[in-house]
Amino acid sequence: MPAKVPKFEPGDIFLVVDTQIDFCPGGALAIEEGDQILGELNLWIRAAKDDGVPVYASRDWHPKTHVSFSDYGGDWPAHCIQDTDGARFHPALELPYDAVIVTKGVRFDRDQNSVFDETGLADWLHRQGVKRIFVGGLAQDVCVLASILDGCEAGFKMHLILGATRPVSQEGGKKALESMRAAGAEIMEIGRLS
Ligand SMILES: [Zn+2]
Repeated sequence: MPAKVPKFEPGDIFLVVDTQIDFCPGGALAIEEGDQILGELNLWIRAAKDDGVPVYASRDWHPKTHVSFSDYGGDWPAHCIQDTDGARFHPALELPYDAVIVTKGVRFDRDQNSVFDETGLADWLHRQGVKRIFVGGLAQDVCVLASILDGCEAGFKMHLILGATRPVSQEGGKKALESMRAAGAEIMEIGRLS
C-alpha cells in the first residue's frame, strides 16, 4: 500500500523554516529551486489551518554586521538583514494571519541555525502540549537540519517533508537526511503534491 500523508492531530504543529526571499532564486544566498517548495508548503499550511493546528514560521534575521557574513569572518554572503526586502518571507508563501513567527540569527557573537537555539521555543511548545512537528523550508542541510536535530533532542517527534525543502548542496542534503534519520526523525518522501 502506498504511504499516506498523515492527518494533523491535536499536539501537532506545522513549522516553516526560513522561507525568505534571500534564500530563493534571485536572493542574496539563493538555494537552487528554493522557490519550488512553495506549492507544497502552502498545501500543508492550508491543511494545518483546516485541522486547527498552529503554523509556526521562522526567519533568519541578522544585524548588518553579522558574524556569519564573510565580511565579518563567517562563511556566508550577507543575507536576511533585518528589515530589508531579502529578509521578508517569500511573497508566494501563504502564511495565515495568526502564524507564530520565530526570529533567530539576531545574536552578535554567533549564528543560530536552529529554531530552538536559545529562542525558548522548545519550552513553549512543550507547555502547549506539542508532540509532533512537521517541517518544511530552507535549507535542508543547514537550518532545517539544525532545527530537526534540536527538535529530536528536545523530545519532539520530528517529521521532514522532503518535497517541501531543498539543500544548499546535494551532497550536504544527503548527509543531512542521514543525520536526521539517525536522530530519530521521520523523512516523509510523500507529500501533498505527490
Ligand atoms: Zn543566516
